[in-house]
Amino acid sequence: MVKKKKRKLKIRNIIMMFIFLSLIIVGIFYLKEYLNPYKIENFSEMGYQTDEITFILSLSDEEKDIILNQEKIENIIKHYTIENYTEFIQIGYSDSEITQILDLDQTIQEYLLAQPYMKDIFNWLRIDNFIFNNIDRYQAYQEKYPKLLFEEVLEKVNTNRDFPYYSNIQSSDTSLGNLVLVNKYYALSEDYTPSDLISVSPYGSVKMVREAAEAFIELCDHAKEDGYTIKGISGYRSYQTQYNLYNRYLQKDPQSIVDTYSARAGHSEHQTGLAIDVSSNNPDILTFEMSSSFKWMKDHAHLYGFILRFEKGKEDITGYKYEPWHYRYVGKEIATLLYQTGLTFDEYVAINLMN
Ligand SMILES: [Zn+2]
Repeated sequence: MVKKKKRKLKIRNIIMMFIFLSLIIVGIFYLKEYLNPYKIENFSEMGYQTDEITFILSLSDEEKDIILNQEKIENIIKHYTIENYTEFIQIGYSDSEITQILDLDQTIQEYLLAQPYMKDIFNWLRIDNFIFNNIDRYQAYQEKYPKLLFEEVLEKVNTNRDFPYYSNIQSSDTSLGNLVLVNKYYALSEDYTPSDLISVSPYGSVKMVREAAEAFIELCDHAKEDGYTIKGISGYRSYQTQYNLYNRYLQKDPQSIVDTYSARAGHSEHQTGLAIDVSSNNPDILTFEMSSSFKWMKDHAHLYGFILRFEKGKEDITGYKYEPWHYRYVGKEIATLLYQTGLTFDEYVAINLMN
C-alpha cells in the first residue's frame, strides 16, 4: 500500500519536473527572442524595406550592430555589393550619378575617387572632344571664366589657349610627318631642316618637301585646266630666314601686332616644308581673297591634301589673323576631314594625336 503510494508520487514528480523544465526552456526561448536586437521590426521601424531587411539579416552581427546604431542608409544593398559605392556617396555623388560613373572608364572612376565632388564631370564628358588628361585644366579654366560654355572651355584648353601664347612651349613632334604641329606652343629646333625639298616649278620657284610639292603641282595643274592661276610665292623657310623676317616686321609694328601675322623663329609652319603661301596672277597676297583663284582653292585644296590653315573666325585658336593665302599640306584624308568638319588643325592634332 505504502509502496504503491510512493511510486505514484515519484511519477508525479517526474511529470512536474518535466513540465517545469519545458516552461523554463520555452521561457528562455521567448526571452531570447524578446531581447534579440536583430528583429525584422527593428529594421522596418528604421525604414528598411523587406528585401533590404533580408539582406541585412544575412550580414554578420557586427555589421547589423553598425547598421542599427546609425540613421537609415539609403540604398543599403548597393553600399555592400557595389565596389566604391560608399566612397562615391561620401564624396557627394547621388545614386543616379554613381550609376553613370560606374559606366565610365576605370581611369576616370579612380580619378573621381581621389577628387572632391566634381559637379561638372558630366558636362565635360558629354562633349565629343573631351580629353581626360586635360580635365584639371578644363576645371581651372572654367573657374576662371565661368561665363564660357563647356564647349568653349574644352576647345581653348585642348589647343593650349589656357596658357598665354609662346608659353609652355614644347618641341614639335616631327615623327608625325605630314601631321607635325607647329604653332605658338609647339616649335621646331633651330637646326631642323626637312629632307627632300624640291621646287614647285613651274608654279613658282619656292620649295616644299617632295610629297607636298608634287601634290601642289597637281593642284595647280587642275586649277589651270579650270582656268585659274595658282602660284607658290613662299614655301620652305629656314629658321634663320624666319628669324630675319619676324625681326624685320618688328621694326615697323609692335610685337603684339607682329605676332598676329608672323611667326617667331621655330614656330613657323614654313620651316616644315609643308606650308605654302599662294597668289593668283596678282602677286599681292593681300588681294588674293578677292580673286576667283581663291574661290577655286576654297573648294579644291583639300582634294590635293591642303588645308586653309588660318581661317576666319578661328583666330583665337590658331593664334593668327585670317590668311586666305596660307595653305598647309596634311594629306588628302585629313584635309578632307578638316574641310568637312571645320575643325582647325590645332584641334585635330590635340584631340587625335596627342592624347
Ligand atoms: Zn604662310
